Amino acid sequence: MSKKVYWNEEFEIMERSKLEKLQVERLRSTIKTALDTQFYGELYSKKGINVDSIQSIDDLRKLPFTVKQDLRDSYPDGMTSTKKGESIRLHCSSGTTGQPAVVYHNKHDLDSWGNLVARSLFCAGARPGDVFQNICGYGLFTGGLGFQYGGETLGALTIPAGAGNSKRQIKLIQDFGTTVIHAIPSYLIRLYDVFKQEGIDPLKDTNLRLFVIGAEPHTEEQRKKIEELFGIKAYNSYGLTEMNGPGVAFECEEQNGLHIWEDAYFVEIVDPDTLEPVADGEIGELVLTTLDREVMPIIRYRTRDLTRFLPGECGCGRTHRRLDRITGRSDDMFIIKGCNIFPMQIEGVLMKIPEVGTNYLIELVTENDIDEMHVKVELQAHCFSDSYKDLENLQYSLIHKIRDEVLAKPKVVLLPPNSLPQQEGKAIRVVDHRRQLRITN
Ligand code: ADP
Ligand code: ZN
Repeated sequence: MSKKVYWNEEFEIMERSKLEKLQVERLRSTIKTALDTQFYGELYSKKGINVDSIQSIDDLRKLPFTVKQDLRDSYPDGMTSTKKGESIRLHCSSGTTGQPAVVYHNKHDLDSWGNLVARSLFCAGARPGDVFQNICGYGLFTGGLGFQYGGETLGALTIPAGAGNSKRQIKLIQDFGTTVIHAIPSYLIRLYDVFKQEGIDPLKDTNLRLFVIGAEPHTEEQRKKIEELFGIKAYNSYGLTEMNGPGVAFECEEQNGLHIWEDAYFVEIVDPDTLEPVADGEIGELVLTTLDREVMPIIRYRTRDLTRFLPGECGCGRTHRRLDRITGRSDDMFIIKGCNIFPMQIEGVLMKIPEVGTNYLIELVTENDIDEMHVKVELQAHCFSDSYKDLENLQYSLIHKIRDEVLAKPKVVLLPPNSLPQQEGKAIRVVDHRRQLRITN
């Protein structure tokens, strides 16, 4: 068997006892920096918290949680330490409601982040010398520059392709011999259609060999669909702006959960209602603490993302624990006809059906005072040809398969390709017209 290789061997296969010692050390220095910020300085002095409050990892649980609203309330820089003057870059989350969350980085922070992304890419199978095309928005969004610096740190020729313009993306892939792509999963499925239209076979006519997909919730079924369409493996990438961006947790070549880099983040999974830790292996809300950030430490951040720890050790030899695929944000859940539903449950059903095309949308509407769920699904073009006779059966079967999964019966609308609105960035899966009604009333 070939020897296993790692990007940061010292950290990636560190014995757990050593890793935990390192976490306590880093946590103490994080608290020291945090005391130096206006936000934590005031909060901790009120509660009598100082560096010596932390003697072991368990002591972290005495500290208050941080939520997204805290970042918004501290806009633009109330969470930065006295090292803010050393900052050389900032990023913001989208901030569709109210002020965005802003994160400042100095050179140390950017080097640490670049290294984590390089480690993540390597862990999924990318190597120095790869040609890495980063298909996502640059600018304040962290997926652009985050993967750019990560790819460069890895030593890949990193193409800042940006989002959209699929024909141009394919030209770049062909002209520069792209081997690795990062993109959001909903976009890759669309890109495949353009490959088909152009009569280019991604496997035979390009050098593509590896995909990195993330930034938005997606199901195992969607990953499989991408892998089958292209004949290329796709690895899951997880991150969020508050914790730098990409490079927080990543799948290795085993494709069995995402290693979360515990030398850089302390990880907890809590019950979102009681805020108590869930039993090992149970699903709960992911709570993260930065362990290697100087300008803007964030402690016990409630990500709202739902996941669980996967049991056992990973065949790759890395000692950092693995998270299960993120099933969505706790606030993605909607209730219809008394059933609690996550959009990913519906995606899981749709992606198993071969006739289903590239896009879908769940609309929640009120009809005759009753809340209804409409699932609009684009099908493959051939389903609308005269020779296809199964449309009615397909609709019937989708209604029942979705009902069996979520317990509420939907209305299913079958649509030809490209009927639904497309987003340049992350896909919007649910539009709630009920909520809009309530706001305007
Ligand atoms: P915004 O909040 O503006 O979308 P971010 O880019 O910081 O900005 O989004 C991070 C969020 O995206 C995560 O908290 C999570 O909900 C989602 N996300 C990122 N990567 C994944 C992934 N691989 N699987 C599921 N969800 C993901
Ligand atoms: Zn692994």
